[in-house]
Amino acid sequence: AAKDQGKNRWLLFEDRMHEQLLDRLDQECRLSQAVHRGELRLHLQPVFSLPDNRMVGAEALVRWEDPVQGLRQPGSFIPLAEETGMIVEIDRWMLLEACRVVKQWQDDDPETAPAWVSVNLSAAHLDEPDVTDQVAYALTATGLAPNCLVLELTETVLMRDLAVSTARLEELRQLGVKIAIDDFGTGYSSLGYLRDIPVDELKIDRSFITGLAANGRQRELVNAVIQLGHTLGLRVVAEGVEESSELNLLSVMDCRYAQGYHLGFPEPADDLHARLSAPVLHA
Ligand code: C2E
Ligand code: MG
Ligand code: MG
Ligand code: MG
Repeated sequence: AAKDQGKNRWLLFEDRMHEQLLDRLDQECRLSQAVHRGELRLHLQPVFSLPDNRMVGAEALVRWEDPVQGLRQPGSFIPLAEETGMIVEIDRWMLLEACRVVKQWQDDDPETAPAWVSVNLSAAHLDEPDVTDQVAYALTATGLAPNCLVLELTETVLMRDLAVSTARLEELRQLGVKIAIDDFGTGYSSLGYLRDIPVDELKIDRSFITGLAANGRQRELVNAVIQLGHTLGLRVVAEGVEESSELNLLSVMDCRYAQGYHLGFPEPADDLHARLSAPVLHA
């Protein structure tokens, strides 16, 4: 009887493995069709200038309108897309769509339009031999001015091979686009690379902003990063600002740009545009 029980348990285990495998294959299959079927959505999250609190830029963030599971956040499908290489196709679509949408907005309503749009680039996309051509194409095809486009790369991606990254970034910057280091401070890398790597912007990771008001040491750290960025002539953006207290402290520390739920959630460009154009209601 003990033997039978063991066998049953094994069959159950096998069933579950089988289910997981089928589920993964199903997800993979649906994700691979998402681009052609027009299921990807571009959301924009505003970036504000401080201390005047005006929207000056926007970050493009991908969403997937999954016919089975509904609107999905990148955390639930980017890992699979990276494993399978489908991320390159997603990134290429986002790049073109971000340039198109923001150029359109700038043409229609220059008063409210963001001055720049930031696009996230995966490691696999940066490694594409023709990534510079792809960026050049997105700019020419849409008419967006090169200095209105920011490419965001994480420290981890840049640090894989500094020589290769530096050469690639030089190539991209020749086009006139700007380069940002995303999630700055989380890559466990030495600061030394900032000496050599050609970048224009630092985005301080949300983990350094959360709890800023309560922690003096953290404040000193963020203050030092802001000063460092400015000394190097970089634009410094604080990510993940959720509280007005955080925003006030950042202003006092001379941080000029901020992004976060306190200022605006990611949303479709049309919704963001409509909200910015609506008359301000005074209480
Ligand atoms: P990220 O580039 O660092 O983007 C910022 C993430 O933080 C976004 O999450 C945004 O919605 C979220 N966020 C913004 N403000 C706040 C806040 O105040 N509090 C909190 N808790 N979160 C905030 P999202 O849209 O889920 O994207 C997650 C990550 O997925 C991005 O991190 C980026 O690494 C990646 N990603 C998004 N879109 C793309 C894309 O088109 N291509 C690639 N390769 N990666 C993308
Ligand atoms: Mg980003
Ligand atoms: Mg980030
Ligand atoms: Mg992040």
